[in-house]
Amino acid sequence: MASLSCSFCGRPKKETQMLLSGLNAHICEHCIQQTHDILSEEMKKRNEQAAPEFKLLKPLEMKSYLDQYVIGQDEAKKVMTVAVYNHYKRLMQPKSRKEAEIHIEKSNIIMVGETGTGKTYLARTLAKLLEVPFCIADATVLTEAGYVGEDVESILTRLLQASNYDVASAERGIVYIDEIDKIARKSDNPSITRDVSGEGVQQALLKLLEGSIVNVPPQGGRKHPDQKMIALNTENILFICGGAFDGIQRVIANRLNTQPIGFKTGDHTLGEIDQDNFLQYINSQDLKTFGLIPELIGRLPVVSYLNPLNREMLYNILTTPKNALVKQYQKLFDMEGIELEFEKDAIDVIVDRAIEYQLGARGLRSICEAILTDAMFELPSQKNKEAFIITKVYALEKLEKSKFKHVKAA
Ligand code: ADP
Repeated sequence: MASLSCSFCGRPKKETQMLLSGLNAHICEHCIQQTHDILSEEMKKRNEQAAPEFKLLKPLEMKSYLDQYVIGQDEAKKVMTVAVYNHYKRLMQPKSRKEAEIHIEKSNIIMVGETGTGKTYLARTLAKLLEVPFCIADATVLTEAGYVGEDVESILTRLLQASNYDVASAERGIVYIDEIDKIARKSDNPSITRDVSGEGVQQALLKLLEGSIVNVPPQGGRKHPDQKMIALNTENILFICGGAFDGIQRVIANRLNTQPIGFKTGDHTLGEIDQDNFLQYINSQDLKTFGLIPELIGRLPVVSYLNPLNREMLYNILTTPKNALVKQYQKLFDMEGIELEFEKDAIDVIVDRAIEYQLGARGLRSICEAILTDAMFELPSQKNKEAFIITKVYALEKLEKSKFKHVKAA
């Protein structure tokens, strides 16, 4: 009988430590090891080229999706969809080529616009479209390590929670940092519990924004000093910062008005300046004048703005988006078998109040609640009620009775 040997390399049995037999063949430990190495290398390559775990549409398609939910803000939508598209294209670069070829930098975004104009909503809707984890952090509670408040790492705790502690998924997520303007450098900041100038927090944010490995407390806070940290690489996390930047219009106006006549910027003439909305001319220079440090501005290369909401936009927000408030209430009533209708005048009343309170679209929901609570309380118990119409008189009467009568503009 011929002596056994490896069917792959031909080694005789006596030169191997182990020879496994199959149906008609044998394999030695050397060949097993080699196949294992080839397999792992191949699988690694395939995984790197595998379909990305997010849903990336082209900028125009992304904008059409956003248009179904967010009213107006075309400029912000355009700038954001391009930034998001480039950011995720960067993630799709095959790893091996990434190092060798051109390195695409991150497109972190900063959005300036009054409260309630849709900054958070835009960021959230984009994250939903991309199917990536999303979280919101409030810059006002952040402090430099050692002061009372939250360390900047706590932002990433939220992202981890949003991704169900799936680190790889969190590392592709989107973080929205609200009220970034509140950590602008101010010489007369009266707080003694936070760092005095706000500059320390800006400094602390740098390392998150630029992309580094950060140790994140999985439960957040400093209450659990013994908790095991999770290392998170922020290189591919998209940061979107937003703020109202009260008073920045003046900064922009000053800059524009101190330019030579004709508002020349280099070779480019801005032409007629729209004096009613200076925000559209915002640039990084204005953010620096406002008090953001240049290093932070450098890590937020995409600057965009949101327009204040006018009557028409508020009216549309109430009635047209896919999940418009009016549609939501109609759905709720419909589930009771009641057809709810808002007369146009009644919607005008809601818009008037929202403008009065200067809360942008934020006030709309509570104004609607004030008008509809009585109906939502009583109607489900009434028999044979098939329709309910909100008239201007009804809306005014309910608002008169509600706390809204006393609310002062913010
Ligand atoms: P902020 O600019 O202060 O971040 P938000 O994005 O939180 O404002 O807006 C508050 C709410 O108002 C949103 O959840 C959304 O329902 C509504 N809203 C604001 N702006 C718009 C808009 N342009 N289109 C549709 N809804 C909007």
